[in-house]
Amino acid sequence: MSSRETFLITGGAGFIGSHLVERLLAAGNGVIVMDDLSTGRIENIRSFLDHSSFEFIHCSIFERGTVEEYVRRSDGIFHLAAAVGVKNIVRHPVRSIETNIYGTQIVLNLANKYRKRILLTSTSEVYGKSEKVPFREGDDMLLGATHKPRWSYACSKAMDEFLALSFYRETALPVCIVRLFNTVGPRQVGEYGMVIPRFVEQALSGQSLTVYGDGNQVRCFIHVRDVVEVIYRLMQTKRAQGEIFNVGGREPITIYELARRVVDLTGSSSSIIKVPYEQVYGEDFEDIRVRVPDTSKLVEFLSFRPSYTLDDILREVIEDFRRRGQ
Ligand code: UDP
Repeated sequence: MSSRETFLITGGAGFIGSHLVERLLAAGNGVIVMDDLSTGRIENIRSFLDHSSFEFIHCSIFERGTVEEYVRRSDGIFHLAAAVGVKNIVRHPVRSIETNIYGTQIVLNLANKYRKRILLTSTSEVYGKSEKVPFREGDDMLLGATHKPRWSYACSKAMDEFLALSFYRETALPVCIVRLFNTVGPRQVGEYGMVIPRFVEQALSGQSLTVYGDGNQVRCFIHVRDVVEVIYRLMQTKRAQGEIFNVGGREPITIYELARRVVDLTGSSSSIIKVPYEQVYGEDFEDIRVRVPDTSKLVEFLSFRPSYTLDDILREVIEDFRRRGQ
């Protein structure tokens, strides 16, 4: 089968990237994954390695010469390579900032040089601790002090957005930005702090579920397959160029309630305990209390609504962990 288009996915061996590979191949496209396997995993893409339209390049986005070669060969770029997870960012702030700022600068510059379409994955972190509910794309950012490492993530991603939008304004680079809210689903690991894989692993192994803080913080979870559907469609939507989109779920839930739901759905006898933030992230940590997206722009541009409920997601993640023998 000849490929329709060839897409480069930076960070394509990660959790979200590997689902995007699946979607792009299913639509008959060629896919080049570039990943340094720092947080990405070869297991995530192993089933594609023999596919005739798939290529894996083990390299960092800091290797400009190699990145250039593959940007040139592609029709479009999904730039997913980034620091992953609050736990990781708090532990390795220098690497996180460099990846987000320097890496993205290289990729955007090359996309601009070869005039390639590019989709940049940003984050709901950029809204920071703003208490406005829900967050809209045009809202102000409210970030904490610079001695709190968490905020470096939001700040570095915000710089990526500024740079991308500046290229769009100055050179008409075809770039689209998505701000991903809590994205979950099979293949996500708990190692970098993400709550759903952690709760599911804890429930299935009979350990206590660790709710950080008072458990009243609110999140909206979205299935990774919904996310990749959106970003694939945005890449093909000319009107979306130069625009920013919230991509997130529609069912706000407190983290304590989420823990209860995981216990119910697994049939686990685990207890739920509350752990102070300082014990996990150190003294200088601030959490985001309520993070809920306004997704009306996505509805307007793509008529898109998520197709999975939170219970669908939890059931699938539980099944995935069981299959993998947790
Ligand atoms: N969280 C928790 N227990 C855990 C891991 C995370 O209570 O074992 C909380 C975390 O403090 C946050 C929410 O769950 O309030 C979502 O955390 P995650 O790291 O998944 O994403 P975030 O929204 O912080 O980017």
